[in-house]
Amino acid sequence: MRIAYIGLGAMGRPMAANLAGTFDLRVWNRTSSVAHDHARAHGSTAVDELTELADADVICTCLPTTVEVEAVAQVLAPALAEGTVWLDHTSGDPQQARDLAALLGAEGVDYLDAPVSGGTGGAEAGALTVMVGGDADALDRVRTVLDVVAARVVHVGPSGAGMAVKAVNNAMLAASLWAAAEGFAALQKAGVATSVALEVVNASSGRSNATENLFPERVVTRAFPNTFGLALLAKDVGLARATLDAADVDGPVLHLVDRLTAEAAETLGADVDHTELVRMVERTAGVELR
Ligand code: NDP
Repeated sequence: MRIAYIGLGAMGRPMAANLAGTFDLRVWNRTSSVAHDHARAHGSTAVDELTELADADVICTCLPTTVEVEAVAQVLAPALAEGTVWLDHTSGDPQQARDLAALLGAEGVDYLDAPVSGGTGGAEAGALTVMVGGDADALDRVRTVLDVVAARVVHVGPSGAGMAVKAVNNAMLAASLWAAAEGFAALQKAGVATSVALEVVNASSGRSNATENLFPERVVTRAFPNTFGLALLAKDVGLARATLDAADVDGPVLHLVDRLTAEAAETLGADVDHTELVRMVERTAGVELR
């Protein structure tokens, strides 16, 4: 099977590295030196023009938003063969994903929205969770591809459903980060170190991925390694808010989380890790979580 990979960022790079071990893999990246570095390091083949990917059986994309995927599709779609499957690992917009599925469908190309969860560690280990929206038969045709990058593949519904699940998941991540930061700031000012409070919470009912992994590894250590940008998280929470609005669900909590996360990305800049949003709470409270 000939696979093409577009977008070798924090997630795309390791996913494509795993695919290069199994398939004939061509890679394209906006900054082309990244694709050539990938080819040297992982045995993929770098191409400089998108149209050189046209005869692939499967096109994979992992770009910041659906807007960048649409731009790539405008160039590539007319050149693709009928029966090609487009696997979009971007955490994107559900409605735009449905539009893209229609655009590509007109060319005989099956578009699956297939965002991933598990972070850069999960991508390196080939152990991601993939939530897929779109046609079940098309999904069956790319199972062997997904099995290389994922430990779990869930077909969640029709086109756009994968994007919606991903957005809601990440809004829940953001909510737990904000809630934990506020709670730990209060505890620390009352004399309980965050590292001590974490021992209790992580053996109790308030625990979450934020308290079990992100606070111990990134916040309390003050390391904040940038593996998932705060601007990307803010984008996801905005998409979750739009998903609630489209479903006519009142969402006072997630609306607030959306506003706070967008403000944090604006204040702290696009290039910081998502966990750095705790700095907003620290600044207001006048405390550093340790
Ligand atoms: P990065 O910022 O690390 O990489 C972005 C990639 O998109 C780069 O290859 C970049 O190319 C390319 N790109 C950016 N703008 C354009 C454009 N206009 N045209 C073409 N290519 C472009 O992002 P991530 O890998 O972290 O995230 C990718 C997607 O995966 C996002 O939707 C994100 O929300 C999602 N995601 C991220 C996770 C993480 O832990 N990082 C976890 C799960 C999902 P260039 O090298 O030229 O800049």
